[in-house]
Amino acid sequence: MLILCTNDDGYMAPGLGVLAEAAAGLGDVHVVAPDREQSATSHSLTMHLPLRARSVRERWHSVTGTPTDCVMLGVQAIRPRRPDVVLSGVNHGMNMGEDVLYSGTVSAAMEATIFGIPAVAVSYAGRGDERHLASYGPLLSRLLAQLVKRNDFPPETLLNVNLPAIAAEQVKGVRVTRLGRRVFSDSLTQGTDPSGKPYYWIGGGSIEWASLEGTDYHAVDEGYISVTPLHLDLTNHALLRNVAEWELTA
Ligand code: MN
Repeated sequence: MLILCTNDDGYMAPGLGVLAEAAAGLGDVHVVAPDREQSATSHSLTMHLPLRARSVRERWHSVTGTPTDCVMLGVQAIRPRRPDVVLSGVNHGMNMGEDVLYSGTVSAAMEATIFGIPAVAVSYAGRGDERHLASYGPLLSRLLAQLVKRNDFPPETLLNVNLPAIAAEQVKGVRVTRLGRRVFSDSLTQGTDPSGKPYYWIGGGSIEWASLEGTDYHAVDEGYISVTPLHLDLTNHALLRNVAEWELTA
């Protein structure tokens, strides 16, 4: 089995090492990852600049692009053949609820899904508190074996996994979940720069989640690993008819 690993934190991020090591027992691991931090770049694609790939060690390449670029190159160019599975992460920080719309980690897995390749995104819900990330190696190895060796991996679907920020030995189990929802995000800071001009800084702040039963947040909050199947189709099928009833005309 040829496994392509990537991430959005850059090829030097410890989480990628944990993932690649955990995947090593499952097959032939190749890493193609951004040469720098690319978090929150979502599904962006570099189209107006050439991309360069550099071999940083055996079967590891860094790329001057986004996570999506890395999957493009990993699937179509750098690797000896098309990968059987794509793994993205382990992201330094959770990717739950609305996060998946901004996440480069999830988008890399999504790109693989578009290529028709089974993909799993893995995130560790403890950015800034990474004490326990390294303890996840053996657990992740067991979990990934259960996820990627199936012959009924759901089509047009990626699996979004979140690991709680506790020691792997303390994890209570695995829950299959749906996306949670933020109730409040105070993530825009305004200030004045040294020359007296205003600036705005996105990020930081506090994030509150609605702790709804069955969601990724709820599971991780209770010490479980969440596994959320994400479909590529964002259509709101449940409300399609309601909008159709508007009888829009050209
Ligand atoms: Mn990241």
